[in-house]
Amino acid sequence: MTECSLCGRPVLGLAGQDWSVLPWMVDQRATDVRPGPAHVRCLHEYGVAREWAEAVEAYYCARWPRWLSGPDWRLHVSAPARRFHLWRSDGRLSSFPYASLRHHPALLVTELAEVGNGAALATAMGTADAGVEVPLAWVLRELRLTDRYPDETGTIARRLRSVGTAGRPELIEVLVARHPLPLDTECRRAAHARMHRPV
Ligand SMILES: [Zn+2]
Repeated sequence: MTECSLCGRPVLGLAGQDWSVLPWMVDQRATDVRPGPAHVRCLHEYGVAREWAEAVEAYYCARWPRWLSGPDWRLHVSAPARRFHLWRSDGRLSSFPYASLRHHPALLVTELAEVGNGAALATAMGTADAGVEVPLAWVLRELRLTDRYPDETGTIARRLRSVGTAGRPELIEVLVARHPLPLDTECRRAAHARMHRPV
């Protein structure tokens, strides 16, 4: 399982709460923070959260120069991919497809790992049955990660995913998180207006 380069504990891949830090996002000579997966909480504790968030914000602005914005959020639009990239002033960042907004609140569906690669997570769920939704809060407690993942709303379940072809069907078992993405009313309204505009 992926580990945090700062604290060495598991990184689950939950949007807005952990991040893969790239070399240009922090000044490693000044901070001793190595690139790699990291909890956002750990970036705060190392005192580099602001520097990291500003670097990512600048990247978002250059990479997706069309955006909608409010007082403390900016919703970057990737129309060809039908995705939004949400930057928030507190450094919580999320990327999600237009389809997430069919739910209210918006729903993020994140594939965390194949069962074989996420053994610790699969064990912590306490069930081997596909489709059983286990509360994320419960799994985080089992993994002793509640202090790294303050937002514990949502569920995790084993799901079967097809990776084969029509002629050679092959199913793999993956761990999928479903969790709400709370958006400001204004942000949600702007996103809906943008979604329904032609590309
Ligand atoms: Zn960490």
